[in-house]
Amino acid sequence: MDDDFPAGAKLGPGVEKARKNSRRMHQLRTDFFEEGKRLDAEGDPDANCHICHGLIDYDAEPGTTPDSHNLDHYYPVSTHPELQEDWDNFRHAHTLCNQQRGAGAINSGGLGELVPDWW
Ligand SMILES: [Zn+2]
Repeated sequence: MDDDFPAGAKLGPGVEKARKNSRRMHQLRTDFFEEGKRLDAEGDPDANCHICHGLIDYDAEPGTTPDSHNLDHYYPVSTHPELQEDWDNFRHAHTLCNQQRGAGAINSGGLGELVPDWW
């Protein structure tokens, strides 16, 4: 358990890299999903997809359907690994929008245009 890991601790770049898929990140994803779900219940637009601004299906398990919730990093982890676990870098997004965005720039696309092969 790393529950006693200080939340605000400053970590060196090497430490950040080593913590990629950590339990802490898993917890952050869960917390972020719960926050979005709560905002959505209140009708807060911050709960919507930051890429296409559409409503996210918070009833679905995250990552299971195209319009289910996905944690998107505003600054991609590939270019900003130090922001991977930075809550301020998290954005609510559709699973599909996040996939289409990849590590590239945000475009105006969204649900209803492209359907991925796996769907
Ligand atoms: Zn979207």
